[in-house]
Amino acid sequence: MCTRCVLSQTRTQVVFGSGSPTAELMFVGEAPGFHEDTQGLPFVGAAGSLLGELLAGIGLRREDVWICNVLKCRPPENRDPQPEEIDACQSHLHRQIELIQPRVVATLGNFATKLLSGRPEGITQVHGVAREATLAGRNVTLFPLYHPAAALYTRRLLEVLEADMLLLAGLLTPGAQAETIAQPPLAESEVQLDLF
Ligand code: URA
Repeated sequence: MCTRCVLSQTRTQVVFGSGSPTAELMFVGEAPGFHEDTQGLPFVGAAGSLLGELLAGIGLRREDVWICNVLKCRPPENRDPQPEEIDACQSHLHRQIELIQPRVVATLGNFATKLLSGRPEGITQVHGVAREATLAGRNVTLFPLYHPAAALYTRRLLEVLEADMLLLAGLLTPGAQAETIAQPPLAESEVQLDLF
């Protein structure tokens, strides 16, 4: 088991990811929480239930997609991921992208969105906007979504998330030409400054 960062000392287990190993669509959240750490599966708490409902709304099941997080181990008390933990964990996510070869990567929330886009714009600005990106050497369509945990308690955000899920479904339609923005990522240092 991975012992590359301090989270290995407090986690119950590694939360690698779950779903189809040949999924066209990958969801990437922030980090496991209490329930994920207990069960060893991503997005199994209240936010995960909502994610399941949102998937059902576009005719998909959890088994049809790949669900994982930037960090594979729970930060104690769900504190923010630290730069050295992200660095230590990043190759695990890259390996998942190499193996699964998703066409679309949907980032859930501000944290995963900023990290994977390499850009400082927050989720409020970029949700629902598809962008071409290169992740782990592969060309993918990056599609930022509000984090389902944020939509649990705010009706307006839930409506936005539901509308964005329909856009996401459109991206998955065979032959669909995504209207994507091609914009180079900023230097990593600029993003890190904004993240932490
Ligand atoms: N929030 C996340 O970002 N990931 C999970 O797996 C659960 C909650």
